[in-house]
Amino acid sequence: MTMNVVAIDGPVGSGKSTVARALADALDWRFLDTGAMYRAVTCEALRHGSNLDDDHVLGELAESLEIETSPRVTVNGRDVHDELRTAATNAAVSHVAVLPSVRRAMVHQQRAFAQRHPEGVVVEGRDITTVVFPDARLKIFLTASLDARTLRRHDEDAASIQRRDEIDSAREHSPLRQADDAMMVDTTEKSVTDVVEEILACLLHI
Ligand code: C5P
Repeated sequence: MTMNVVAIDGPVGSGKSTVARALADALDWRFLDTGAMYRAVTCEALRHGSNLDDDHVLGELAESLEIETSPRVTVNGRDVHDELRTAATNAAVSHVAVLPSVRRAMVHQQRAFAQRHPEGVVVEGRDITTVVFPDARLKIFLTASLDARTLRRHDEDAASIQRRDEIDSAREHSPLRQADDAMMVDTTEKSVTDVVEEILACLLHI
């Protein structure tokens, strides 16, 4: 069944969150930032001093967390929005996101979110078009040059960005890749408005 979902994937700094948020506003749909969900689990794991390689422990932790990402990121009702982009989280998040039990818990929450909002959702991440919502109404893969992506990220240098992209693309479960039927948009030289209009035009024609 095709769901009322626009699914957006892409590497670090390709514009996913900004574009997805603006698109959701334009459609009056809900927005889900799944990167913020993996960051929230990572922050909680760091706060608890958990072993970041322990699939079982982190899977149980992930299952115990109710995460919202819009308008602010909250975990079990606590606002963690401003804690998600520390250097420690940037360094750890791709390792936590490798763990199958953590992914299972997050994918479950992401699908439940779409079910709660049948009017429509815009969801962005790394495996949204390929694994979480393979039947999405529209699938987008955003990309941009490393220079452009580095300029957009104030909290992270090019080396850290490349390291995360490598781990995210090379992992065994749900790696970052362009789905066969996803539309590729290179955002290097485009404004947010341009990209949103391009996606809206596609939505009208399907
Ligand atoms: O999008 P953002 O940079 O906030 O994502 C943080 C990290 O979360 C990514 O580098 C990736 O390791 C992980 N992630 C993931 N699957 C998603 C979204 C994010 O593995 N759907």
